[in-house]
Amino acid sequence: MASQPSVAIIGAGLAGLTCGAALRGLVERVRVFEKSVFPGGRVSHLRAGDYEFNHGAQYFTVGNPLFWNIVSAWQTDGIVRPWDGWIVELERGQVTSSDQASQRFVGVPRMQTVADNLSRLCDLQTSTNIAELEQQVHGGWRLFNERGDYVGAYDIVVIATAAHQVAALCRPVPAIGKAADGVDMTVCWSAMFAFERPLGIPYDAAHVLESPLSWISRYQTSEAQGDADCWVLHASPEWSQQYAASFRGRVMHALLDAFWEATDLAPSKPAASAVHCWKHAAPINPISQDCLFDEGAALGACGDWCTAPRVEGAVLSGFSMADRVMKHVGKTTGQATSVR
Ligand SMILES: Cc1cc2nc3c(=O)[nH]c(=O)nc-3n(C[C@H](O)[C@H](O)[C@H](O)COP(=O)(O)OP(=O)(O)OC[C@H]3O[C@@H](n4cnc5c(N)ncnc54)[C@H](O)[C@@H]3O)c2cc1C
Repeated sequence: MASQPSVAIIGAGLAGLTCGAALRGLVERVRVFEKSVFPGGRVSHLRAGDYEFNHGAQYFTVGNPLFWNIVSAWQTDGIVRPWDGWIVELERGQVTSSDQASQRFVGVPRMQTVADNLSRLCDLQTSTNIAELEQQVHGGWRLFNERGDYVGAYDIVVIATAAHQVAALCRPVPAIGKAADGVDMTVCWSAMFAFERPLGIPYDAAHVLESPLSWISRYQTSEAQGDADCWVLHASPEWSQQYAASFRGRVMHALLDAFWEATDLAPSKPAASAVHCWKHAAPINPISQDCLFDEGAALGACGDWCTAPRVEGAVLSGFSMADRVMKHVGKTTGQATSVR
């Protein structure tokens, strides 16, 4: 290994980007590969006509002191702000309880801003689906995309994808692959509707009971969308699983009907709509480790499936992964460096 090794990170969600940003300047070369056109993964946003929506994570909470420090820096940079939306519990049109207690944050103007900002600190290569890792006899890895094209050689590889994708990539290191393989993920259908005029709903978001929906939320943005009232609906894990293979149009109509029933409003026609199925939305049984790293193979894995199914879990796992990589580098080069 060179005195300062090279690192490839697969996946530009919050875990991979946090890891990449933390390693910046500490290793010779760190490149983040992302199969989508944009970074962000499950905090990305989606456009429907003239409107846009956060269609994955809607907000995040902060518990860990290290994450508080990170979020404070994000607040200073103006990329997140506290969100004091009024959240209620809804049962068949009736508000059954109200929750304004927890401190919540949102990205400004959208959740994806956090990912965009981190990606500016990384050498990011998008539209690159890493399909195979080949371990080299004298150490390090060669990476190939889904067409079998060679995309580069790196001393250390970090897999920062959802759990099922880790298992597929990690065959040369079965212990990591097996741990990831044991993590089950929920499915989540997300439907988005923009209405030209406000619907008159007094609350900003609701946990929905006794419904195909589990969550509805008015899309918050500081960017003008006129008078439009934009809503994101998340179907419950059970309903989403049952209808995972259904046609998108059918799902969209079923969730819109459920929205009218849950809010007890008369149906009206949306100006724009979209639907997305998160086939791997949230880990049900995270492995309760910050991240995984195999010293012999110089291969690690991180993501919310290690820690907790939240923005906080993904960021802390990515940060911890960077720390493990630097400890490994310290052992192999004799130069102790820490990301903290
Ligand atoms: C519907 C929904 C609602 C949510 N609501 C909340 C919420 O309210 N609050 C909260 O805190 N959290 C919420 N979350 C969870 C939060 O979004 C995730 O915990 C977090 O974003 C996960 O980040 P990650 O980096 O671990 O994974 P991801 O965001 O999944 O990132 C993995 C990345 O790897 C890429 N990738 C995969 N395979 C490859 C490959 N072979 N080659 C290259 N790239 C690859 C993917 O495209 C993706 O960009 C929600 C998630 C969903 C889906």
